[in-house]
Amino acid sequence: VEITSLPENKIKGIMERLEGAAPASQVIRVLSQQGGMSAAQLARATGLARSTISMAVNDLKAEQIVVELADIQRSVQGAGRPGTTLTLNPDAGTCIGIHLGIEDIQIVVADMAHSFLAEETISLGMDYEPDDVLPAIRKTCAALYRTSKLPMSGLLGVGVSVSGPVRPDGVLLRGGILPKWAGINIKSLFETAFRRPVIADNESNCAALAEMKWGAARGVSDFVIFKMDMGVGGAIVSNGKLVTGVAGGAGEFGHVSINPEGELCRCGNRGCLELYASFARPLKQLSRVHKRRVTMEQAIALAESGDAGALRLIADAGAYGGRGLAMIGTILNPPLILVGGRMALAGDLLLQPMRHAHAKHALLHNAELNPESRTVIRVGKFPERDSLLGAVGLVLDQALVKGVS
Ligand SMILES: [Zn+2]
Repeated sequence: VEITSLPENKIKGIMERLEGAAPASQVIRVLSQQGGMSAAQLARATGLARSTISMAVNDLKAEQIVVELADIQRSVQGAGRPGTTLTLNPDAGTCIGIHLGIEDIQIVVADMAHSFLAEETISLGMDYEPDDVLPAIRKTCAALYRTSKLPMSGLLGVGVSVSGPVRPDGVLLRGGILPKWAGINIKSLFETAFRRPVIADNESNCAALAEMKWGAARGVSDFVIFKMDMGVGGAIVSNGKLVTGVAGGAGEFGHVSINPEGELCRCGNRGCLELYASFARPLKQLSRVHKRRVTMEQAIALAESGDAGALRLIADAGAYGGRGLAMIGTILNPPLILVGGRMALAGDLLLQPMRHAHAKHALLHNAELNPESRTVIRVGKFPERDSLLGAVGLVLDQALVKGVS
């Protein structure tokens, strides 16, 4: 497909000119939020008539805002005429996703046609501070644009994923794994650095968004994501929408107490699920036993090669995770629970004990349920980069909606 390049920010200019309810504006918004689709799907998604969609799409094609991608797969399958997928012109603009991890920062650049173009991880070590990392982030972004031969002037917005609840105005309420970031307005911090609209959200909400857009929850309107990594987090999607709670604190499964006399958690509570189901402590124990620093990836590799200690610690974390899932299950009874975070890379070593504990502690037992009424527990599609991809999703969802400055 021949695509001529667009003047910078043309798409933004068009959106500013159009009324939000104008068909062309709705087409742009839906394609930005949901990615490529056929004209019939566009009509369904917007509720507009096919003829109205055709007219709007033709105008947008003339302006080079919307392009056609021949649906090669369908034509290969030979089901009559090849279907046509409409997408936003990849040259219509780009977005950056940033995930602030416990000891590294992941960055990805994507275009408006939902393609991920370039990705980089900056390794930092624990407890990095905002002022130390912004120059490095900017430098890495500039390098990613240079190597992808893209103009950074086409950047439409930046999405930031961070551990801990984020207030709607962008303030991180609790530091989570990044204590020095608590109380900081992530949105204004990054807006100053990039001079573009910034949308910040909790990492588990971002993970849920990525699984909905591109992963294991496509077309699923009710599910729970349960993240197990150095911390434990989660998100609830109900009726296709993230449940945020009044202050952005919904789905913080890691800080539900499972032992009122348990040890003190960093949140001030006692016996939080995170103390038992995250992999922070097991890694310390493994490092002590092996007399070297063992990373999460190494711990999983050890378990896979049969190391009894690593196997035991992963199984124990899985069992505690399953106990937590049973509480969630008893309250929400979701059809699908996706397990994310790097621990999910352990696969069945983690999931078998987890399913077992869930079955044991949940109110409803599988034996009394039809297969289709049972909660499915499985690994998400992007366990180690769901939050990063979801940060891009924040921009695709919101950058072209009026009122996001
Ligand atoms: Zn806690």
